[in-house]
Amino acid sequence: MSSSPVVRVALPTPLRRLFDYRTDPSGVPGDPIGPGMRVRVPFGRQRLIGIAMEVAAGSDIPDERLKPVLEVLDRQPIFDPAALALLAWAADYYHHPIGEVLTAALPKALRLGATLEAREERWLLTPAGAEAAARGEPRRGPRQRALLAALAGGQSLTAAELDRQLGSWREAARALGDRGWLVTVETIPQQAAAPPAATAGGPGPEPNEEQRVAIERVCESLGAFAGFVLHGVTGSGKTEVYLRVVERAMRLGRGALVLVPEIGLTPQLVGRFRQRFPVPMTVLHSALTDPERLLAWREAFSGRARIVLGTRSAVFAPMRDLGVIIVDEEHDTSFKQHEGGFRYSARDLAVVRAQRAGVPVVLGSATPALETLQNVAAGRYTRLVLARRAAAAVPPRLSLVDLRSSAVRAGISTPSVQAIERHLQAGGQVLVFLNRRGYAPTLLCTACGWIAPCRDCDARLTVHLGAARLRCHHCGADSALPERCPQCGFAVKTVGQGTERIEETLTTLFPGVACIRLDRDVVRRRGDLEEAMRRMAAGEARILVGTQMVTKGHDFPNVTLVVVLNADQGFFSTDFRAPERLAQTIVQVAGRAGRGEKAGEVLIQTEFPDHPLLRSLLAEGYDGFARAALSERSQASWPPFSRLAAVRDSAKTAEAALAFLTQARKAAEELRASGSGARFASRAPGRALRLLGPAPAAMAKRAGRYHAQLLVESTDRAALHRFLDAWLPALEALPSARRVRWALDVDPIELF
Ligand code: ADP
Ligand code: ZN
Ligand code: ZN
Repeated sequence: MSSSPVVRVALPTPLRRLFDYRTDPSGVPGDPIGPGMRVRVPFGRQRLIGIAMEVAAGSDIPDERLKPVLEVLDRQPIFDPAALALLAWAADYYHHPIGEVLTAALPKALRLGATLEAREERWLLTPAGAEAAARGEPRRGPRQRALLAALAGGQSLTAAELDRQLGSWREAARALGDRGWLVTVETIPQQAAAPPAATAGGPGPEPNEEQRVAIERVCESLGAFAGFVLHGVTGSGKTEVYLRVVERAMRLGRGALVLVPEIGLTPQLVGRFRQRFPVPMTVLHSALTDPERLLAWREAFSGRARIVLGTRSAVFAPMRDLGVIIVDEEHDTSFKQHEGGFRYSARDLAVVRAQRAGVPVVLGSATPALETLQNVAAGRYTRLVLARRAAAAVPPRLSLVDLRSSAVRAGISTPSVQAIERHLQAGGQVLVFLNRRGYAPTLLCTACGWIAPCRDCDARLTVHLGAARLRCHHCGADSALPERCPQCGFAVKTVGQGTERIEETLTTLFPGVACIRLDRDVVRRRGDLEEAMRRMAAGEARILVGTQMVTKGHDFPNVTLVVVLNADQGFFSTDFRAPERLAQTIVQVAGRAGRGEKAGEVLIQTEFPDHPLLRSLLAEGYDGFARAALSERSQASWPPFSRLAAVRDSAKTAEAALAFLTQARKAAEELRASGSGARFASRAPGRALRLLGPAPAAMAKRAGRYHAQLLVESTDRAALHRFLDAWLPALEALPSARRVRWALDVDPIELF
């Protein structure tokens, strides 16, 4: 028992607890400590940086075992009370150790101890130095004399300023320092004061009636929490709604947090925000270097940046005077972190953050997630509809091409070829979508039946003809493309098609028509994507072939035809969300057609033209599809009609992966059967907890490891979370837990 003051610290370790440290009043450098500040502490043989969570008068740990805080890194909390509370909530909800959650919310440089405020060194004269300068000293040393003169009159200069004025001066500075004439001080750089409430920069189009209603509804609730779903068909002008809402928030002296799926894919959105608002704006995304990310984070922390626009982890960005949160393309799966330790949904956390901050949140999409639509149905969110395209454009016409009854050449059916020809002749541009990169997904020997396999995955290697490589799209394995079968020596051939082969086919079919391809193989550097976009926008290229990349955010007014080459992968997956993804992709890519004045046409090639979900999508659009899909989910009791958590693991053998989860299941059953099981039973009958699995993943072997999963499902969220609270410590204590890598995923959105 210690009765001296201690600080409870969250440390980046997998242990689900705080750690007590002594705070000797006599001497922690950087004292005083307050909640939300970073501290450096001894931990075993290491020194770790953690976050002070609370200061307490005493501890259960005896004095002699308490170690002291070594250093306080911050003079003001890096997490304010609201941020700490939000992150504590997230740690609780996702059942992840608070120390790791806090760490995940900080840029790496700050985790490693970088200062919260940018610091700069400035040089200035001591009184003795000032006197020396006045006497014109030192007589023999022109550089030193020049330096004294430059600093005379009590002013201080930075290294950059001295470089500019004097050229080389550091040696002179050292000599003057030795004589006690010169000192350096560290200061926080003078920043331009945050500009006053912003006024709109460039003018935007006058909002149409639907946009006006949406803007009004959101703006009416500025200052209080409200959840809005901006359900606007592609091209309906959702961005204009965001811009106007943000503008209004800024007039009230508030800032905006805007989350987008992937910055690289939404350069137009970033551009429109920059153009509209002449205020500092910070962009946070995964392509930033660590120093860039630190700078961006500081801009937001200091309140200088009034708008923070970023991808997933930007949901944790510090904001002064938050006024509104916007999540664009809210259905996008990249908002869910599904790797690493702390697995969270940035969209869902954005809603919680808005709730706690008392500000509105706008979830925008042409294809809202079924969960989101169900939240609308349950009255939790208000749906705002933009049913018409903003500019003159009319909605595109969708039709199916039955692959079973059409001639197909290298993946492209005759009706599609004819349509492409027609649209090109009419002066339009064409977009061809195929969700598979590379030349062909299979390399086959027709003599012995050998198929190029990945050694480390349950997968085939993809042929990349241009690069003459065989690559695994799951583990990255990469080898030379063999000319003959390694088994029998016969010639090999490629089967199936990827974007590379489609590009080749289209180039042969339409000689003289410039065709560009867009996928991860061609877009490697920043700027590649912009260049492709520019060529399409300028009409230098007439056909664009690509993967998922072509479906997002771009606005090409002259694209009049979209061809979806293979719509079928989505209907036969083990993941109950696959049809939803497919429908979203089809609607999004179809939205690229006819954005300008000319009407658009969309052809969807399929071998299953009678699939009921595809039918409802074509006949009644996304709303009809969503109704049909939600009714299927309800019958099967899948989310949003139940809550899921997945425990996933991987091991060197399939047996080890299954063994841990089998024991995990047993532990769960014991918990349920024991006295405490009553706590997990729901008050409502028939809403008990279900355990599904364990089962090997659909692709069990990946990168040399075997993957498996165990699902826990309940229609009662509170019961599920009470169960997880009790179950996780039991899992951590299992001996087999140490033989696998495992993680819990609450609200998983990718099942396998
Ligand atoms: P979405 O994000 O909903 O797909 P955008 O915001 O990209 O749609 O808008 C599509 C196009 O319509 C853009 O070129 C935009 O400048 C234009 N636009 C938006 N609102 C209006 C409006 N009220 N009047 C005229 N054009 C508009
Ligand atoms: Zn062979
Ligand atoms: Zn592989």
